[in-house]
Amino acid sequence: MDASVAVMVPLSWLASLLGVVLPLALGAVWWVRRRHAAALAEARQSRGHVGPGADADLFVRCGLISRAEFDDLLESAAGLRGDTADTLSVLVLDIDGFAAVNEAVGHRRGDEVLLEVASRLHRAAPARLAATRLGGDAFVLLFDHDLAGSKRQAELLQEALAEPLAVGEGSLRLTASIGIAQYPLHGARSRLIAYAVSAMRAVKTVGGNDWAVYDPRAAIDLQAQRALVDDLRVAVERKQLELVYQPKIDARSLQVTAAEALLRWHHPTLGMISPTVFVPLAERYGLIGTIGDWVIDEACRQAGRWRKAGLRMRVAINLSAYQMRQDDVVRRLQAALKANDLDPRRFTVEITESLALENTRATQRTFEGLRRAGLHVAIDDFGAGQTSLAYLRQLPVSELKMDIGLVRDVATRADARVIAEAVIRLAHALELRVVAEGVETQAQRDQLVALGVDELQGYLFARPMSARALGLWALDPEGPAHDGFRASLFQPTAVPS
Ligand code: C2E
Ligand code: MG
Ligand code: MG
Repeated sequence: MDASVAVMVPLSWLASLLGVVLPLALGAVWWVRRRHAAALAEARQSRGHVGPGADADLFVRCGLISRAEFDDLLESAAGLRGDTADTLSVLVLDIDGFAAVNEAVGHRRGDEVLLEVASRLHRAAPARLAATRLGGDAFVLLFDHDLAGSKRQAELLQEALAEPLAVGEGSLRLTASIGIAQYPLHGARSRLIAYAVSAMRAVKTVGGNDWAVYDPRAAIDLQAQRALVDDLRVAVERKQLELVYQPKIDARSLQVTAAEALLRWHHPTLGMISPTVFVPLAERYGLIGTIGDWVIDEACRQAGRWRKAGLRMRVAINLSAYQMRQDDVVRRLQAALKANDLDPRRFTVEITESLALENTRATQRTFEGLRRAGLHVAIDDFGAGQTSLAYLRQLPVSELKMDIGLVRDVATRADARVIAEAVIRLAHALELRVVAEGVETQAQRDQLVALGVDELQGYLFARPMSARALGLWALDPEGPAHDGFRASLFQPTAVPS
């Protein structure tokens, strides 16, 4: 790849210079281009700014200038346009999953991949006014396109990246997330790159491989998000988070088999905030480590209290993506279990299907640790993704929690019933217990029981409640557990080999 880039780039660079000069009739734009050329000449003198180490030279030949020069050019181009209808556009392009590429092929080859990306962008954007790198795997390009032109350009860039890219023996297909910001449409020129970055991030949050135009309303959300993260930091320090517990019920005897710990945050002014909102925020802003550790300690403390009070049920916690990738999560779990005199086989960790699918070295290590520690592992939200049961068989899993979406449809849709039936049959063949979560109606319960589900969980039986309320509820002679708890549920569940 190195050789082809080195030979091809100077020719296409000349071609692109010719290509961009011709359509420009306005003197003002001519001036911008002259600045651009000057900046490029300067960039050749200061190569260290644009590429990793020895490849800086090659990045310059791909038409990249330094960030300072890019900012300078953007500023003068916007200044010349004023707030007239003439538009400038900034496209920020970030390669999807580049960290994984680097991990897979090594950093040296990773740099070669970036160089090839720069070269493809160079070819796919001959009309650009300037281009620079924004960091590891992100690039920013400046055009004098209107919005429609910017969208077309984003698509061209994506097409250029989609071509298979040879790396060592194999090949890769890259995708990218692109954010677009327009001047003067979106306001302040000094914020254009930040706006395009925020649009690019919005693409990432919905799975990448697309482009989006900056949306000022999303910026408000982003500000609100930042404020929420600050509040969350305080909540963690002041211990304002709480665990509530939702029982799982044996489908036949209706006895309580387990209590799943679910996080709650009572915000001082906003009220209850759902973990589906703040857990991803905590992941993104580096707070999930502290929160996850607290959940482990608190749930184990509570399990210890229940055990001493004679309540014989499992306690389950949810593990986040961050925790699954942490190498000491199993040790933390073991320490907390030991401190509260708990048997690991009676403690469940729930891992979402999408996370179980990750199958990286880090998650494999954690799964292996969980297996060695003898913890009971459940796959949460099963049926929402595309896990093959054959793959699941290799994991030390004892329980499948059928996704709420599948459970919802089971009483009304024949296709959902067929899927649920197949999932249950296969899970049983692999000696997995099947839990249906989010059971809300009697009709759903009847269907699920008829299909052979082992355990049920949902508002039909109980909402998540405080530890104290759950203790009282479980022992209530009117409650579903009046016959006591089945010790048999504490036997180690069969682990498929
Ligand atoms: P999950 O582990 O799949 O938990 C089930 C969610 O469904 C819970 O929402 C529960 O309150 C809700 N639910 C239970 N029964 C019903 C029902 O009958 N109908 C409906 N519509 N919903 C029901 P919650 O508590 O908001 O938690 C949402 C998700 O947040 C959890 O999904 C879990 O993935 C995550 N989460 C909660 N606590 C923790 C935690 O301590 N650590 C981590 N990493 N994630 C957590
Ligand atoms: Mg769960
Ligand atoms: Mg779930």
